[in-house]
Amino acid sequence: MTVTASHSLDISALLSKRAHAIDASGIRKVFDLAAHLKNPINLSIGQPDFPVPQAIKDAAIAAIAGDKNGYTPTQGCHELIEAIWKRLEYEFQWPRGAEHGLSAIATSGTSGGLFLALLCLLDEGDEAIIPDPYFVMYPAMGPLTTGKMVAVDTYPDFRLTAERIERAITPRTKCVLLNSPGNPTGVVLNQQEIRDIVDLCRAKNLLIISDEIYDEFTFSESREDGRFPSPASYTRDCLLVRGFGKTYGCTGWRLGYVAGPHDLVQAMARLQQYSYVCAPSMAQHGVAKAFDVDMQPWVDRFEKRRAMMLEAFEGVAQVTRPGGAFYGFVEVPKRLNLTATQFVEKAIANNVLIIPGKVFSHRDTHFRLSFAQKEEVLAEGLGILRKLMQA
Ligand code: PMP
Repeated sequence: MTVTASHSLDISALLSKRAHAIDASGIRKVFDLAAHLKNPINLSIGQPDFPVPQAIKDAAIAAIAGDKNGYTPTQGCHELIEAIWKRLEYEFQWPRGAEHGLSAIATSGTSGGLFLALLCLLDEGDEAIIPDPYFVMYPAMGPLTTGKMVAVDTYPDFRLTAERIERAITPRTKCVLLNSPGNPTGVVLNQQEIRDIVDLCRAKNLLIISDEIYDEFTFSESREDGRFPSPASYTRDCLLVRGFGKTYGCTGWRLGYVAGPHDLVQAMARLQQYSYVCAPSMAQHGVAKAFDVDMQPWVDRFEKRRAMMLEAFEGVAQVTRPGGAFYGFVEVPKRLNLTATQFVEKAIANNVLIIPGKVFSHRDTHFRLSFAQKEEVLAEGLGILRKLMQA
């Protein structure tokens, strides 16, 4: 049989509605525009700029060298699950084990956890409430699961409050997806706001899914009593979705974990068995040591970079102070009379790569800037953006 260069099948007619419904063109367009830049000042990056801590690298390398390269149990290797439970007991006093109605499994990235959770919760037409602006994956979960992602406008303060959530609840609502610290805004909900959401969801029989991928990157003032604000402190009726990629600089290792109601997590494990099978084995062995690594010096450094960003835009543009993560969501000054996409095109023409808010929102008024970048590069980029805004 010969292989022909041109296709004779109409692949488009064969693709499912869900494949047609996913449109990644927004973000691709930005990268297409930037493709010709030789050495762009890249403030678009969604991952930290530090190397994986040596202890974690060593553990992953030792796992490979020690022939631990086969499948792990679907729920994750013993060492990692032990480490996760130690952490949950310490942080939330969550008791371990099915007899307490709780379970935890390792997932293929935070994305893997979110995807399995929504697949387990949403039948056709069932609704999940998400914030707008949102992490790009959230709306895509609609077509992928046949559920409906109901985006709640959180402008201008970017707080997904109980009041805002309540207005979006319908008889089809099953869950609320929280993301604090948030991508793309960095906004961190406070303990009271979280308690109000927990009370509302309890009253309405809704599950909270808490995407806490940026939990470690929560700056000092957003940690009341030194604690990271999470619904897990107030209820066990929430699914914690966490990741290792951002915290330890290993986004490519595809590793996260979920913990929460036993019956849900076990349903997710069953789906994982027939999809991802298990999270990458050497990465699991690597991050089993992660909770012992102190990332605070890096978090402090990111806090200083946040200060650089806030200072750069002072007096020229509105930017909501991020309490965590490593993003600023900056409003394009109205007097420039530009959409965010138009402003981003100007920035790219001046060698600075940022992402228009439209990629994360129904509005096109802001841009996302990442300060996960070396201080001198960040300073140069901020200087150029400031000038463009003063023009
Ligand atoms: N949730 C949020 C809010 C994110 O920003 C990201 C990554 N940018 C993810 C989930 C996915 O993370 P992972 O790489 O662990 O799948």
